[in-house]
Amino acid sequence: MFESSRPFAFFDYFRIPYDLRPDLGAEGCSRSPLPVRRLRLATGDGAPPRSLLWLGTDDHQGPAWPATCPLGSYRLGESTFFGHVAADAAVPPVLNQLGHGWRPVERITDGAGQRRASIWRDERGSLFLPFDLGEVMQAFWSESYQQVGRSPLELHGRAAAVRGYYLLRPALPRPLQLRLRRTFSQVQGRSPFPRWPTEDSLHSLYAWLFRRLAELASRPVPFLGLWPDGRSWALVLTHDVETDAGCQNLELLRGPERALGYRSSWNFVPLRYQVADETVRRLRLEGCEIGVHGLRHDGRDLGSRRLLAKRLPGMRAYADRWQAVGFRSPATQRQWDLMPALGFDYDSSYSDTDPYEPQPGGCCSYLPFFNEGMVELPITLPQDHTIFAILGNPDAELWISKAQFLRERHAMVLSLTHPDYAHDPRVADGYRSLLETFRGDQTGWQALPREVAAWWRHRASSAIHRSNDGWRIEGPAAASGRIQFATADGFRARP
Ligand SMILES: [Zn+2]
Repeated sequence: MFESSRPFAFFDYFRIPYDLRPDLGAEGCSRSPLPVRRLRLATGDGAPPRSLLWLGTDDHQGPAWPATCPLGSYRLGESTFFGHVAADAAVPPVLNQLGHGWRPVERITDGAGQRRASIWRDERGSLFLPFDLGEVMQAFWSESYQQVGRSPLELHGRAAAVRGYYLLRPALPRPLQLRLRRTFSQVQGRSPFPRWPTEDSLHSLYAWLFRRLAELASRPVPFLGLWPDGRSWALVLTHDVETDAGCQNLELLRGPERALGYRSSWNFVPLRYQVADETVRRLRLEGCEIGVHGLRHDGRDLGSRRLLAKRLPGMRAYADRWQAVGFRSPATQRQWDLMPALGFDYDSSYSDTDPYEPQPGGCCSYLPFFNEGMVELPITLPQDHTIFAILGNPDAELWISKAQFLRERHAMVLSLTHPDYAHDPRVADGYRSLLETFRGDQTGWQALPREVAAWWRHRASSAIHRSNDGWRIEGPAAASGRIQFATADGFRARP
């Protein structure tokens, strides 16, 4: 249905079928001052095909981008995004070699609301995106957008603040720690990006492009459904056990799960307290999963590549002992470049949005994604400690409404709660009402994180092909996957 001159990250991510045709290029444009890539509809009926033109460089480090494509923070419709965008003035000389009657149809503004660039359309309906969506997705996932428009000094200051927090924290009495976090939270809660408790920019951008593609193709666009067995969303329950007290009180959270028929994942810290093999065995026997929550929970596991190398054998030894394939970083400390070196099947240390963590930020994704060979499973509900201890919410309303929002978005609801805080009745009762809300909901896939990671791998190595009787899936997702179709007004199960 589609063919593309280069790999198109959005199509790869959603498993939209296309053929790679390096010869397609942006013909007649070899002297182009902009790195234009072409994706086009393979109609085969003789009509001149419509194209989606976009920008891309082979080098994502930056120097390959011309000065007419400044790196910045931009807005398109409802979405804020970060990347290199071709300024309006640079575009017409290039597009005029690639079609007729190009005109700007949607505005892209900068952080101050000034128009900087546009989505362009020609008289036949071809589109031009003045940016590389692959670069934009990567900037969200890796949180590298945090560096856009900031000086190295600011970045250094923030890293130092995180380090300072860990150095000081053990010395501070708990009420003072909490008071500091609350004061800090008033500042963090005002951060304009990512918004909290929901930052929809990345997913709005996906939905926007799906609509444009369906219009461009004048027919529904097939993609490999996000979840297996006809489920429309996923619900994943995870816990971090911070201290020995938490380890003694797993039942506060496990009890309601068991009663309501849920399974969950438990992340333990190997060298901070004693984890009895019997505890691990019993959880596994009930169908639960065990993960590794750092080595000592001192904020230093990902301090540097050297420190990580020193600590890795210790973490790996416990991963083997517990048959753990997943990692959760203490205090969600994360370093994009270092995560794959952990050697776990999946990591779950990024939040979609969390301005309240010692390392604030958010990958803005409520779907899994890859960091090299590692599957990343973002935490998509606010943490118990944040909404009850720091922000003082009386009940689980915030959890439930966010979970319902994610359910409607066909997303992954991934919760993180701590038995250490579950003596607070708001945590235990709130967790129970979250579980009760979705009990028996057959539209959702209640899965362990390891199962979601395995599914995401299967999905990523499967493809949709056209056969005589329509579209079919080839690859490891063939048995449980479903084909879906994007239309100009949403998704459906049939073309
Ligand atoms: Zn922790």
